[in-house]
Amino acid sequence: MDTAVRQQNLFDLAPAAMADWFESIGERGFRAQQVLKWVYHQGVTDFSAMHNLSQTLRNQLPSLASLELPAIQSQQVSKDGTIKWLFDVGGENAIETVFIPESGRGTLCVSSQVGCALNCSFCATGAQGFNRNLSTAEIIGQVWQAARVLGHQRNGERKITNVVMMGMGEPLLNLDAVLPALELMRDDLGYGLASRRVTVSTAGLVPAIDVLNQTLDVALAVSLHSPIDELRNELVPLNKKYPIAELMAACQRFVKDKHKRSVTFEYTLINGVNDHPEHARRLIKLLRQVPSKLNLIPFNPFPGTAYRCSKPERIERFQQIIMQGNIIATVRKTRGDDIDAACGQLAGDFNDRTRRRQRIQLQLQANA
Ligand code: SAH
Repeated sequence: MDTAVRQQNLFDLAPAAMADWFESIGERGFRAQQVLKWVYHQGVTDFSAMHNLSQTLRNQLPSLASLELPAIQSQQVSKDGTIKWLFDVGGENAIETVFIPESGRGTLCVSSQVGCALNCSFCATGAQGFNRNLSTAEIIGQVWQAARVLGHQRNGERKITNVVMMGMGEPLLNLDAVLPALELMRDDLGYGLASRRVTVSTAGLVPAIDVLNQTLDVALAVSLHSPIDELRNELVPLNKKYPIAELMAACQRFVKDKHKRSVTFEYTLINGVNDHPEHARRLIKLLRQVPSKLNLIPFNPFPGTAYRCSKPERIERFQQIIMQGNIIATVRKTRGDDIDAACGQLAGDFNDRTRRRQRIQLQLQANA
């Protein structure tokens, strides 16, 4: 008979849950604090090296617990310093994580799912289909692995100052795994990042925005892409379920009662689709409903897309109109496009359970 106890991967546990787990094995809860500091502050995953644990516990832990991480499959460095990692998450699935260094800060763009089910028409991840949710360990593991490559926090200097859940997947469709991972990013026993330095980006899952709001203090980014429902239905099909008015109401609830400053709206500018001055004017009206910042993202092409990026003059004009409406609008610099690491280019490499790629191929063949 197999009497092996299932090992608990400690990377799956947020601080409170880890304290409970230690109590469940007859230890004191504060052991969690010691282990968390080893793992997230020192980058140590070998129990035998955690010398402030009792010898008995150090001997016992390997049979009860593990510290398992997604393995780095490849690493590419862009000429602008952006780094992209492909992580092997088993079952022929790989996900992508991107580090974007800027002066004074370093942003890590983290994936939450293997693929994405939302099928936004302008996104490479969407075109790849969906396989599965990532676990907490696979999400926080991306941060741990990136921190190891970049040098774990030493002498007070931090390479990763910001984390954005803007990689592959829709984070709010995987709240069970994403919330503990966000806690670990925020908690002083984890990465200790301030609330405004951890951003969750969503295509607009209204009920989950409310859950996030009630659970954790993090920054919210909403992928808007159109001020008009009809067009947004095409670009972000989720809009049919949660139309713009409902989404804006959820954003209002998000900023209410907390000193939660503002919501960042992301708007990918696609040539001739959503970049008309009239779109900008309608956008101003919408954004006035919520303390907002607008982040304009020039569309990044990927194989098979018919969309093109808006012309620079058009982008500039769009930004000017928004600014004249007294709303802060920044244009996101394209980073790492030589290694396909730019926004919307993260495709990973996985087994598509939705067979979306296959359907698209068949459609292309039929149209040829
Ligand atoms: N599912 C989440 C997070 C992932 S996408 C969301 O929708 O917010 C991160 C950002 O990149 C989103 O704003 C998304 O709309 C944008 N994006 C997707 N594809 C893009 C592309 N091809 N070019 C530019 N931005 C893109």
